[in-house]
Amino acid sequence: VAILETRQLKKVYGSAAASQTKALDGVDLSVESGEFVAIVGTSGSGKSTLLNLIGGLDSPTEGTVVLNGCELSQLNDDQLTLFRRSNIGFIFQNYNLIPNLNVYENIILPVELDNKKVDQAYLHSILVMLDLDDKQTKYPNQLSGGQQQRIAIARALITKPAVILADEPTGNLDSKTSKAVMELLRMSNTRFNQTLIMITHNSDIAGMADRIVHIEDGRNKVS
Ligand code: ADP
Ligand code: ADP
Repeated sequence: VAILETRQLKKVYGSAAASQTKALDGVDLSVESGEFVAIVGTSGSGKSTLLNLIGGLDSPTEGTVVLNGCELSQLNDDQLTLFRRSNIGFIFQNYNLIPNLNVYENIILPVELDNKKVDQAYLHSILVMLDLDDKQTKYPNQLSGGQQQRIAIARALITKPAVILADEPTGNLDSKTSKAVMELLRMSNTRFNQTLIMITHNSDIAGMADRIVHIEDGRNKVS
C-alpha cells in the first residue's frame, strides 16, 4: 500500500519574475508503507523543498501530495497542523530541541501540544531503545550531539507517527555516532512499521535504505 504519493510536484520560490527559483520541476514519488527511502542529490537539487512539501510545511506551486490517504491541499492551516502532529515525525540536522526544557519535557512536548496522555510504556520502550533512560532530567546543553539527536528521534517517535521525515539527521555527527543513530532509526522503522523518508549526502547511510531516490535539478533523475 502506498503511504505517500506525489504527483508532478512543482515549487517555484519568489513572486517577482526576476527573483524566481524553480526548486522542484515535477517530482513523482511513491513510497510504500513501512519502506525506508533515502533521497539523494547534490546541494540545491530540491531535496529539502521536496521533504517540506511532503510534510506539509510548505505548499506546492503545482501538483499534489497524498500522505496516509489525505490530500494535503484539501486541508486548511489548522487541519494541516493537526494532521502533521498525528501523522508525521520530523527530524532535522540541528535537532531543534528546546534548551530550557529537560530531556523528558522535550520528548513529550508533541503529546502535550496535542493535549493527549503520554503512553508511559511506549515512552519507556523508546527511552530504552535509544539508551536515554538515565538522561531524562538533563538539559540539551549537557548532552553530546549524538545524545541530542537521539532525543530528537524520541520526540519524533512519541506520537507514533506513520511517517518519519528526516533531513540530514546525521549531518552533524561523527561517523560512529551516525551509524548508531541510523541503526536506531532502522530499528524503529522495522519494529513499528514506520515509513522512513530521509535526505542524506552520505552514501553509507543511503546504502541502508530499501530504496534510493535520486533528485537532480528538481526532477527525478532518470538513470
Ligand atoms: P537541497 O535540499 O537539495 O539542497 P533545496 O530544496 O534546499 O535543495 O533548494 C532547492 C533550490 O531552491 C535552491 O536553488 C535553493 O536556493 C532554493 N530555495 C530553497 N528554499 C528557498 C526559499 N525559501 N526561498 C527561495 N529559494 C529557496
Ligand atoms: P540544505 O542544503 O542542507 O538543505 P540549505 O542551506 O539549502 O540547506 O537551506 C537551509 C534553509 O534555507 C532551508 O530551509 C531552505 O528552505 C532555506 N533556503 C535555501 N536557499 C534559500 C534561498 N535562496 N532563499 C531563502 N531561503 C533559502
